[in-house]
Amino acid sequence: MPEKQYNHQEIEEKWQARWSADPELYKPASDKTKPKYYVLEMLPYPSGTLHVGHLRNYAIGDALARYKWMRGFNVLHPMGWDAFGLPAENAAIKNNRHPREWTLANIEAMKRQHNRMGFSYDWDLEVSTCEPEYYRWNQWFFLRMLERRIAYRKKALVNWCPECATVLANEQVVDGCCWRHETTPVEQRELEQWFLRITDYADELLNDIDKLEGGWPERVLTMQRNWIGRSEGAEVDFGVEGSDEKIRVFTTRIDTIFGATCVILAPAHPLVQKLIAPEMQSQVKGMIDAQARKDLAEVEKEGIFTGRFATNPFSGERVPIWIGNFVLMGYGTGAIMAVPAHDERDFEFCTRYGIPIRPVIRPVDGGLADASTMGEAYAEDGIVENSDEFSKLTSEDARARMTAKAQRENFGEKAITFRIKDWGVSRQRYWGTPIPVIHCPACGVVPVPDDQLPVVLPLNIDITGKGKSPLEGVPEFVNVTCPKCGGQARRETDTMDTFVDSSWYFYRYCDPRNDSAPFDSRRIAYWFPIDQYIGGVEHAILHLIYSRFWTKVMRDIGIIKNDEPVKRLFTQGMVIKDGAKMSKNKGNVVSADDMIERFGADTGRVFELFAAPPEKDLEWIDAGAEGCQRFLGRVYRFVTRNIDRASGPSGERTEADRRVLRKLHQTIRKVTDDFESRWHFNTSIAAVMELVNELYASEDDLSSSVAADVCEKLVLLLGPFAPYMAEELWQEMGRTGPVFRQPWPVFDEELAREEGAEVVLQVNGKLRSRIIVPFGTAREELETLALSDDKMQPFLQGKQIVKIIVVPDRLVNVVVKG
Ligand SMILES: [Zn+2]
Ligand SMILES: [Zn+2]
Repeated sequence: MPEKQYNHQEIEEKWQARWSADPELYKPASDKTKPKYYVLEMLPYPSGTLHVGHLRNYAIGDALARYKWMRGFNVLHPMGWDAFGLPAENAAIKNNRHPREWTLANIEAMKRQHNRMGFSYDWDLEVSTCEPEYYRWNQWFFLRMLERRIAYRKKALVNWCPECATVLANEQVVDGCCWRHETTPVEQRELEQWFLRITDYADELLNDIDKLEGGWPERVLTMQRNWIGRSEGAEVDFGVEGSDEKIRVFTTRIDTIFGATCVILAPAHPLVQKLIAPEMQSQVKGMIDAQARKDLAEVEKEGIFTGRFATNPFSGERVPIWIGNFVLMGYGTGAIMAVPAHDERDFEFCTRYGIPIRPVIRPVDGGLADASTMGEAYAEDGIVENSDEFSKLTSEDARARMTAKAQRENFGEKAITFRIKDWGVSRQRYWGTPIPVIHCPACGVVPVPDDQLPVVLPLNIDITGKGKSPLEGVPEFVNVTCPKCGGQARRETDTMDTFVDSSWYFYRYCDPRNDSAPFDSRRIAYWFPIDQYIGGVEHAILHLIYSRFWTKVMRDIGIIKNDEPVKRLFTQGMVIKDGAKMSKNKGNVVSADDMIERFGADTGRVFELFAAPPEKDLEWIDAGAEGCQRFLGRVYRFVTRNIDRASGPSGERTEADRRVLRKLHQTIRKVTDDFESRWHFNTSIAAVMELVNELYASEDDLSSSVAADVCEKLVLLLGPFAPYMAEELWQEMGRTGPVFRQPWPVFDEELAREEGAEVVLQVNGKLRSRIIVPFGTAREELETLALSDDKMQPFLQGKQIVKIIVVPDRLVNVVVKG
């Protein structure tokens, strides 16, 4: 009979059909006394089709989910769709296809691909953020935030992409250009916007980062700390000469205030328009736009002198008021005092414009630090000089006393400022969650009552991609009666930033069909926090800060108890091909469908886990995938031809039996350790490959019982990596029940132990030889072996042996002289 060959297509299609027909397969147990494990991969944007670069995230999560099931955990492993957003709208403009239709078709296509890969999702828990049953809870949360004044409205300068015709978050501005249109410079516009007061949570978001230590990558935590960017200091009012206006500056170095030689305003500072002459308008406007376009770290410092002067509240000194392109409206107060002697950035600016430099700090053990002669600012703390009654104080003391004085005399106060800004959530776009408020000429902003949720996004719409919000063109949506006074009113036409959708979706998975609350809090108490979250490092700040913020707000609303959503975070490396990240533009995309057709889902998964440690970038190489396919073929042939071997009486174990069992149990230990620690699945799979090599080498000498035992364990070990083949072989062995519900193979230390100990042989402490001996070999015998060892002879001849040191199973050191 010819040998059975591995036919991935036949096997995978057969099992896919069975798995799809069983909606209960990956359902978590209702028994909540079991230990739980919530493993989650970041939900994808339904762009249409998956390529092998997308698969890695899921292959890692799926291996982990299956392993945890085998270890007896109650596993929650859901999947859903981040289904709102610009691309659907842009596709609608380009192809004249409704965003909903386009999105649903993409979801269907991607779901088919997920299934074809054999990922273990409980699709009953599927969440799609563009469905009213989901986004009504975005609206519900928004109303709760409105009640708590976390959601508020303000006029603000916003980044505007003329191409997208919408507002961009600061995070969506890359090098001054739109994140989707890399060559379109962002402009500034002033609009009424909805904001969420994330700054109210800035301190807690920062402090709680400590709780994530150990479970989150250090690099992500550092990025979050920097993003939040807390600094402590003071705000001080400078008077404006010839006016009642005050300029409030924020400084972390009030101790240097006697060295302030000018005040610099952000170009967008509200006072600017009052101070400048009309002919300076266009110059300032140019600076505002340029500011948005450039990365401030790299921009050359430029200024405009307003012609006006301010008064230092401490010294009474008159200093010029400038406008500077490196001062931002969103940070601190949008105004600074420049102390060129003690701040590098101010030094650069003032040197360029010939503004005086006045040192007021000296190092503890030196003279006054004069920046003009040093050629750079002295930015350290020291002893304060030339500062009236504060002279001779340390910087620290001076800061405390000066702040106290400012407070006492009512021209300043202690202040903490954050780099993080309130989250602008308004979008002048169609394909998003409608913001549930109504604008009434009599009552102002009126929240939509809870019992009128959801505010459904109208489907009958004309999307042109031009101008303001597309919803403004839908009269039946816009024209409403005011819920308060019953008069004619206008519905809000902005929709929410899609980062709102992804800020809490993983809670909804626990109770996705609930139509009376976002979820049942008891379910959250069981499943949260997420035990393992897996996704790209590009989400280190936005998504992962917003969802931490949302969790804290939900806690304060009283519907959850956890402070943090995610216990452990893993960020996988990218998949690259021909040296670059896979992208349509570069033409180096390997589609999931092509890969499955050619190699099979199992091979694709094994290759993606084998070719690199999961946190490192991985190069997709066809030849590498072919190697993994050959490996799976070897496993398949070995198991199928050995399961039928007559299981005769198992007499004495042969030498080959012992060798194979040793290798098997060493492999079990290795794979188990990798799952429990660093997830170096590349070395796990390499170990299984070695085991298979050993099986081929020893096949003819294996006794039947050992062959059967090894086949079983081998299949179980491969279950998390190649689930289709594992299932097929499991069935071939006459076993029932899915592989991922079987107990994980148990490591037997006795069987894994090497039969001999490696003993190093030394002369006067220098390594001269090594021998393998049975464990527990007696001292006397070790001495004899050492003294008669060939490689030891040249170092012993003609010498007098002083003593012999023996450490059983480890070493023999012969001490000689002469
Ligand atoms: Zn754009
Ligand atoms: Zn009204």
